[in-house]
Amino acid sequence: MQLTPEHDTLRDTLRRFIDKEINPHVDEWERAEIFPAHQVFKRLGELGMLGLTKSVEDGGSGLDYSYGAVMAETLAHIQCGGVPMAIGVQTDMATPALAHHGSAELRREFLAPAIRGEYVACLGVSEVGSGSDVASIKTTARKDGDDYVINGGKMWTTSGTQADFCCVLANTSDSAAHRNKSLIVVPMKTKGVEVARKLRKMGMHASDTAQVHFDDVRVPQRWRIGEEGMG
Ligand SMILES: Cc1cc2nc3c(=O)[nH]c(=O)nc-3n(C[C@H](O)[C@H](O)[C@H](O)COP(=O)(O)OP(=O)(O)OC[C@H]3O[C@@H](n4cnc5c(N)ncnc54)[C@H](O)[C@@H]3O)c2cc1C
Repeated sequence: MQLTPEHDTLRDTLRRFIDKEINPHVDEWERAEIFPAHQVFKRLGELGMLGLTKSVEDGGSGLDYSYGAVMAETLAHIQCGGVPMAIGVQTDMATPALAHHGSAELRREFLAPAIRGEYVACLGVSEVGSGSDVASIKTTARKDGDDYVINGGKMWTTSGTQADFCCVLANTSDSAAHRNKSLIVVPMKTKGVEVARKLRKMGMHASDTAQVHFDDVRVPQRWRIGEEGMG
Protein backbone atom coordinates (compact mmCIF):
# COMPACT_ATOMS: atom_id res chain seq x y z
CA MET A 1 0.00 0.00 0.00
CA GLN A 2 1.42 3.36 -1.05
CA LEU A 3 0.60 6.21 1.34
CA THR A 4 0.00 9.56 -0.35
CA PRO A 5 -0.17 13.17 0.88
CA GLU A 6 -3.97 12.67 1.00
CA HIS A 7 -3.53 9.86 3.54
CA ASP A 8 -1.28 12.16 5.60
CA THR A 9 -3.89 14.93 5.51
CA LEU A 10 -6.55 12.50 6.71
CA ARG A 11 -4.30 11.29 9.53
CA ASP A 12 -3.40 14.86 10.63
CA THR A 13 -7.01 16.06 10.55
CA LEU A 14 -8.27 13.14 12.61
CA ARG A 15 -5.35 13.35 15.03
CA ARG A 16 -6.07 17.04 15.70
CA PHE A 17 -9.76 16.27 16.27
CA ILE A 18 -8.91 13.46 18.70
CA ASP A 19 -6.48 15.61 20.68
CA LYS A 20 -8.86 18.56 20.88
CA GLU A 21 -12.34 17.07 21.08
CA ILE A 22 -12.08 13.48 22.28
CA ASN A 23 -9.11 12.85 24.56
CA PRO A 24 -9.88 15.68 27.02
CA HIS A 25 -13.23 13.94 27.77
CA VAL A 26 -12.21 10.30 27.81
CA ASP A 27 -11.85 9.93 31.59
CA GLU A 28 -15.27 11.48 32.15
CA TRP A 29 -16.89 9.24 29.50
CA GLU A 30 -15.20 6.13 30.92
CA ARG A 31 -16.59 6.97 34.37
CA ALA A 32 -20.05 7.64 32.95
CA GLU A 33 -19.91 4.34 30.99
CA ILE A 34 -21.19 6.14 27.91
CA PHE A 35 -19.96 8.81 25.50
CA PRO A 36 -22.18 11.31 23.65
CA ALA A 37 -22.25 9.48 20.33
CA HIS A 38 -24.53 11.97 18.57
CA GLN A 39 -22.27 14.89 19.49
CA VAL A 40 -19.02 13.11 18.54
CA PHE A 41 -20.40 11.52 15.37
CA LYS A 42 -21.86 14.85 14.17
CA ARG A 43 -18.38 16.37 14.30
CA LEU A 44 -16.81 13.30 12.68
CA GLY A 45 -19.47 13.51 9.98
CA GLU A 46 -18.65 17.16 9.34
CA LEU A 47 -15.01 16.14 8.89
CA GLY A 48 -16.08 13.45 6.40
CA MET A 49 -14.73 10.65 8.60
CA LEU A 50 -17.85 8.49 8.72
CA GLY A 51 -18.10 7.92 4.99
CA LEU A 52 -14.54 7.64 3.70
CA THR A 53 -15.20 4.42 1.79
CA LYS A 54 -18.93 4.99 1.17
CA SER A 55 -20.12 6.13 -2.25
CA VAL A 56 -20.21 9.81 -3.17
CA GLU A 57 -23.87 9.32 -4.14
CA ASP A 58 -24.70 8.45 -0.51
CA GLY A 59 -22.67 11.35 0.89
CA GLY A 60 -19.38 9.49 1.34
CA SER A 61 -15.97 10.16 -0.18
CA GLY A 62 -15.75 7.11 -2.44
CA LEU A 63 -12.18 6.33 -1.35
CA ASP A 64 -10.53 2.92 -1.28
CA TYR A 65 -10.07 0.98 1.94
CA SER A 66 -6.50 2.22 2.47
CA TYR A 67 -8.12 5.42 3.82
CA GLY A 68 -10.27 3.36 6.18
CA ALA A 69 -7.11 1.61 7.38
CA VAL A 70 -5.37 4.94 8.05
CA MET A 71 -8.44 6.11 9.95
CA ALA A 72 -8.50 2.92 12.06
CA GLU A 73 -4.79 3.29 12.82
CA THR A 74 -5.25 6.93 13.83
CA LEU A 75 -8.21 6.11 16.10
CA ALA A 76 -5.68 4.22 18.24
CA HIS A 77 -4.59 7.64 19.55
CA ILE A 78 -7.86 7.83 21.48
CA GLN A 79 -6.98 7.18 25.11
CA CYS A 80 -9.61 4.49 25.64
CA GLY A 81 -10.93 1.50 23.70
CA GLY A 82 -14.66 2.15 23.81
CA VAL A 83 -14.89 5.28 21.67
CA PRO A 84 -12.83 3.96 18.73
CA MET A 85 -14.76 0.69 18.95
CA ALA A 86 -18.09 2.53 18.68
CA ILE A 87 -16.80 4.62 15.76
CA GLY A 88 -15.71 1.40 14.06
CA VAL A 89 -19.15 -0.12 14.60
CA GLN A 90 -20.69 2.93 12.91
CA THR A 91 -18.37 2.88 9.87
CA ASP A 92 -17.44 -0.77 9.46
CA MET A 93 -20.02 -2.98 11.14
CA ALA A 94 -23.48 -1.43 11.14
CA THR A 95 -23.39 0.34 7.76
CA PRO A 96 -21.40 -1.66 5.13
CA ALA A 97 -24.26 -4.06 4.28
CA LEU A 98 -26.61 -1.10 4.03
CA ALA A 99 -24.16 0.63 1.67
CA HIS A 100 -23.58 -2.42 -0.53
CA HIS A 101 -27.02 -4.04 -0.59
CA GLY A 102 -29.53 -1.46 0.70
CA SER A 103 -32.18 0.00 -1.60
CA ALA A 104 -31.98 3.65 -2.66
CA GLU A 105 -34.71 4.41 -0.09
CA LEU A 106 -32.81 2.71 2.75
CA ARG A 107 -29.58 4.43 1.82
CA ARG A 108 -31.31 7.82 1.70
CA GLU A 109 -33.28 7.34 4.95
CA PHE A 110 -30.65 5.61 7.09
CA LEU A 111 -27.18 5.43 5.51
CA ALA A 112 -26.84 9.08 4.44
CA PRO A 113 -27.72 10.43 7.93
CA ALA A 114 -25.31 7.89 9.47
CA ILE A 115 -22.54 9.19 7.18
CA ARG A 116 -23.41 12.77 8.18
CA GLY A 117 -23.23 11.70 11.83
CA GLU A 118 -26.85 12.59 12.49
CA TYR A 119 -27.87 8.98 13.12
CA VAL A 120 -26.08 6.53 15.37
CA ALA A 121 -26.25 3.02 13.93
CA CYS A 122 -25.99 -0.30 15.72
CA LEU A 123 -25.78 -3.92 14.62
CA GLY A 124 -27.99 -6.58 16.17
CA VAL A 125 -26.50 -9.98 15.41
CA SER A 126 -25.41 -11.59 18.72
CA GLU A 127 -28.03 -12.98 21.07
CA VAL A 128 -28.10 -14.64 24.45
CA GLY A 129 -26.68 -18.07 23.51
CA SER A 130 -25.69 -17.07 19.95
CA GLY A 131 -22.28 -15.42 19.64
CA SER A 132 -19.73 -17.06 17.35
CA ASP A 133 -22.42 -19.44 16.12
CA VAL A 134 -24.50 -16.82 14.31
CA ALA A 135 -26.53 -19.49 12.51
CA SER A 136 -28.17 -20.39 15.83
CA ILE A 137 -29.90 -17.01 16.38
CA LYS A 138 -33.53 -17.27 17.48
CA THR A 139 -34.96 -13.84 16.53
CA THR A 140 -37.67 -14.18 13.90
CA ALA A 141 -39.21 -11.82 11.35
CA ARG A 142 -42.59 -13.14 10.24
CA LYS A 143 -44.31 -11.70 7.17
CA ASP A 144 -47.67 -10.03 7.74
CA GLY A 145 -49.06 -8.17 4.74
CA ASP A 146 -46.34 -5.80 3.56
CA ASP A 147 -44.59 -5.87 6.93
CA TYR A 148 -42.27 -8.02 8.99
CA VAL A 149 -43.21 -8.63 12.61
CA ILE A 150 -40.03 -9.16 14.60
CA ASN A 151 -39.79 -11.05 17.88
CA GLY A 152 -36.72 -11.98 19.90
CA GLY A 153 -33.79 -10.09 21.28
CA LYS A 154 -30.18 -9.06 20.83
CA MET A 155 -27.23 -9.03 23.21
CA TRP A 156 -24.00 -7.00 23.38
CA THR A 157 -25.34 -4.35 21.01
CA THR A 158 -22.72 -1.60 20.83
CA SER A 159 -24.27 1.91 21.06
CA GLY A 160 -27.63 0.20 21.56
CA THR A 161 -28.84 2.59 24.28
CA GLN A 162 -28.43 5.67 22.09
CA ALA A 163 -28.70 4.37 18.52
CA ASP A 164 -31.30 5.65 16.06
CA PHE A 165 -31.53 2.44 14.09
CA CYS A 166 -30.37 -1.14 14.28
CA CYS A 167 -29.56 -3.55 11.45
CA VAL A 168 -31.18 -6.64 12.91
CA LEU A 169 -30.35 -10.15 11.77
CA ALA A 170 -33.47 -12.32 11.94
CA ASN A 171 -34.72 -15.67 10.68
CA THR A 172 -37.20 -14.90 7.91
CA SER A 173 -38.10 -18.54 7.26
CA ASP A 174 -37.80 -21.99 8.81
CA SER A 175 -35.47 -23.28 6.10
CA ALA A 176 -31.81 -24.28 6.56
CA ALA A 177 -30.03 -22.18 9.21
CA HIS A 178 -27.47 -20.75 6.79
CA ARG A 179 -30.08 -19.74 4.21
CA ASN A 180 -32.92 -18.27 6.24
CA LYS A 181 -31.41 -15.07 7.62
CA SER A 182 -32.13 -11.51 6.57
CA LEU A 183 -30.79 -8.19 7.77
CA ILE A 184 -33.58 -5.69 8.45
CA VAL A 185 -33.37 -2.01 9.39
CA VAL A 186 -35.29 -1.28 12.58
CA PRO A 187 -35.54 2.28 13.94
CA MET A 188 -34.95 2.03 17.68
CA LYS A 189 -38.02 4.15 18.45
CA THR A 190 -40.35 1.61 16.77
CA LYS A 191 -43.13 0.34 19.05
CA GLY A 192 -42.05 -2.93 20.68
CA VAL A 193 -38.30 -2.18 20.71
CA GLU A 194 -37.10 -2.11 24.30
CA VAL A 195 -33.58 -1.44 25.51
CA ALA A 196 -33.86 -3.95 28.34
CA ARG A 197 -30.62 -2.95 30.04
CA LYS A 198 -27.29 -1.25 29.64
CA LEU A 199 -24.67 -3.91 30.29
CA ARG A 200 -21.78 -3.44 32.69
CA LYS A 201 -18.48 -4.63 31.23
CA MET A 202 -14.89 -5.28 32.31
CA GLY A 203 -13.57 -2.71 29.84
CA MET A 204 -14.55 -0.57 26.86
CA HIS A 205 -16.55 1.43 29.40
CA ALA A 206 -17.15 4.58 27.34
CA SER A 207 -18.98 2.47 24.77
CA ASP A 208 -22.53 1.67 25.88
CA THR A 209 -23.58 -1.92 25.27
CA ALA A 210 -27.23 -2.93 25.34
CA GLN A 211 -29.50 -5.91 25.61
CA VAL A 212 -32.47 -5.24 23.34
CA HIS A 213 -35.87 -6.96 23.20
CA PHE A 214 -38.20 -7.04 20.18
CA ASP A 215 -41.85 -7.64 20.96
CA ASP A 216 -44.07 -7.69 17.85
CA VAL A 217 -41.96 -4.99 16.20
CA ARG A 218 -43.52 -4.10 12.86
CA VAL A 219 -41.41 -2.69 10.01
CA PRO A 220 -42.04 -2.66 6.24
CA GLN A 221 -40.56 -5.58 4.32
CA ARG A 222 -38.92 -3.06 2.00
CA TRP A 223 -36.59 -2.18 4.90
CA ARG A 224 -34.86 -5.55 4.45
CA ILE A 225 -31.28 -5.12 3.26
CA GLY A 226 -30.77 -7.15 0.09
CA GLU A 227 -32.46 -10.40 -0.83
CA GLU A 228 -34.42 -12.42 1.69
CA GLY A 229 -32.35 -15.24 3.20
CA MET A 230 -29.06 -13.58 2.20
CA GLY A 231 -28.41 -11.77 5.49
C1 LIG B 1 -17.67 -5.10 23.92
C2 LIG B 1 -18.48 -5.94 22.97
C3 LIG B 1 -19.22 -5.33 21.98
C4 LIG B 1 -19.99 -6.10 21.11
N1 LIG B 1 -20.77 -5.48 20.16
C5 LIG B 1 -21.59 -6.21 19.40
C6 LIG B 1 -22.49 -5.59 18.48
O1 LIG B 1 -22.51 -4.36 18.33
N2 LIG B 1 -23.34 -6.37 17.78
C7 LIG B 1 -23.35 -7.73 17.90
O2 LIG B 1 -24.13 -8.37 17.22
N3 LIG B 1 -22.50 -8.36 18.76
C8 LIG B 1 -21.64 -7.63 19.51
N4 LIG B 1 -20.79 -8.25 20.39
C9 LIG B 1 -20.84 -9.69 20.52
C10 LIG B 1 -19.65 -10.38 19.87
O3 LIG B 1 -19.78 -10.37 18.48
C11 LIG B 1 -19.62 -11.78 20.47
O4 LIG B 1 -19.11 -11.62 21.77
C12 LIG B 1 -18.81 -12.72 19.67
O5 LIG B 1 -19.51 -13.06 18.50
C13 LIG B 1 -18.48 -13.98 20.46
O6 LIG B 1 -19.63 -14.54 20.97
P1 LIG B 1 -19.74 -14.96 22.51
O7 LIG B 1 -19.29 -13.81 23.35
O8 LIG B 1 -21.10 -15.52 22.75
O9 LIG B 1 -18.66 -16.07 22.71
P2 LIG B 1 -18.76 -17.65 22.29
O10 LIG B 1 -19.29 -17.77 20.89
O11 LIG B 1 -19.51 -18.33 23.40
O12 LIG B 1 -17.26 -18.03 22.33
C14 LIG B 1 -16.54 -18.21 23.57
C15 LIG B 1 -15.15 -18.67 23.25
O13 LIG B 1 -15.19 -19.92 22.53
C16 LIG B 1 -14.49 -19.80 21.30
N5 LIG B 1 -15.22 -20.57 20.29
C17 LIG B 1 -16.51 -20.42 19.93
N6 LIG B 1 -16.84 -21.32 18.98
C18 LIG B 1 -15.74 -22.05 18.73
C19 LIG B 1 -15.45 -23.12 17.85
N7 LIG B 1 -16.37 -23.63 17.03
N8 LIG B 1 -14.20 -23.63 17.86
C20 LIG B 1 -13.25 -23.12 18.69
N9 LIG B 1 -13.46 -22.10 19.56
C21 LIG B 1 -14.69 -21.57 19.58
C22 LIG B 1 -14.46 -18.32 20.97
O14 LIG B 1 -13.34 -17.96 20.17
C23 LIG B 1 -14.36 -17.70 22.36
O15 LIG B 1 -13.03 -17.65 22.80
C24 LIG B 1 -20.00 -7.51 21.25
C25 LIG B 1 -19.23 -8.12 22.24
C26 LIG B 1 -18.48 -7.35 23.10
C27 LIG B 1 -17.68 -8.05 24.16
